[in-house]
Amino acid sequence: MYWAERWDPREGELKLLAIPRVDPSMQEGGGAEIMFEANPAVKDDILRGNLESAQAILRQLLKSDRIDPAYAAVGCQVSFLPLFPAAVRTMSKIDLNNAVRIWNESVNGYVNSKVDSRTREDIENAAKVGPTGGPLYRRCEAEGCPKIEGRNDVKLSRCAGCSKAVYCSSPCQRLSWKSHKSACKTGEVKVQLLPSQVEYIAEMKKSMIDKLTTLNLPAERIQALVNGFFDG
Ligand SMILES: [Zn+2]
Ligand SMILES: [Zn+2]
Repeated sequence: MYWAERWDPREGELKLLAIPRVDPSMQEGGGAEIMFEANPAVKDDILRGNLESAQAILRQLLKSDRIDPAYAAVGCQVSFLPLFPAAVRTMSKIDLNNAVRIWNESVNGYVNSKVDSRTREDIENAAKVGPTGGPLYRRCEAEGCPKIEGRNDVKLSRCAGCSKAVYCSSPCQRLSWKSHKSACKTGEVKVQLLPSQVEYIAEMKKSMIDKLTTLNLPAERIQALVNGFFDG
C-alpha cells in the first residue's frame, strides 16, 4: 500500500488516498504525483476540475448530439459534478445517497417540465443513476437484448465469474460468453455505464490529457494517470 493524491471528479479536488496496489507509474521510479509535488501550482491548475468546465463539456456534447438531453439538463442543474462509478467510489454512503437522490429528483423535474416528448420511462432509462453511479435501470449486456432491469418485471443476474456483467437470462449469458470471457477472467470488466456517461468520461479524459500534455510527461504515463482517475 502507498499513499497518493487522486483527483476526486465529484469534489473537483485532489484527495490523499491509500492505494492498496502498486501503481504502474510509481514502479518506474516516480510518476506524475511526484512531478506535481514539485509544481504545486501547475497541479492545482491542471487537475482541479470544476463544475463550470464539466457543465461546458455537457453543453458541448449536447450540441453535437452525443449525450442524452435529459442527462445534460440534469448535469447542468445540480451543484455537483456528474456521477459515474469511478467518481462515486470515494464518496461516503450518505453523500452518495444524497447525490443520487438529488440527481434522480432532478430527472423527475425534467420529465414533469414536458420539454421532452419522450415517455417518462425512456427518459428515466437514459438519465437516472443508481447506487453504483451507473444506470439505475441497467440493460442486459447481451448484444441486441432490449431487456431493462425493473421494467416489465425484468430481473438481471450477475455473472458468477466477475460479479459485474449482468444478464436477463442464461441464454443471454451464454450468447455473450465468447466476447465476455477474456475480460471476465482477467478482471477487466467495467461496471455498466449510461451511454451519456461513456461520452462524458471520454470527453473529460480528452480534456485532461490535453492539459497534462503541457507538462511534458511521457504519453503512457499521462494515459495511466487519466485512466486511474476515470476508470479506477
Ligand atoms: Zn463475468
Ligand atoms: Zn438479455
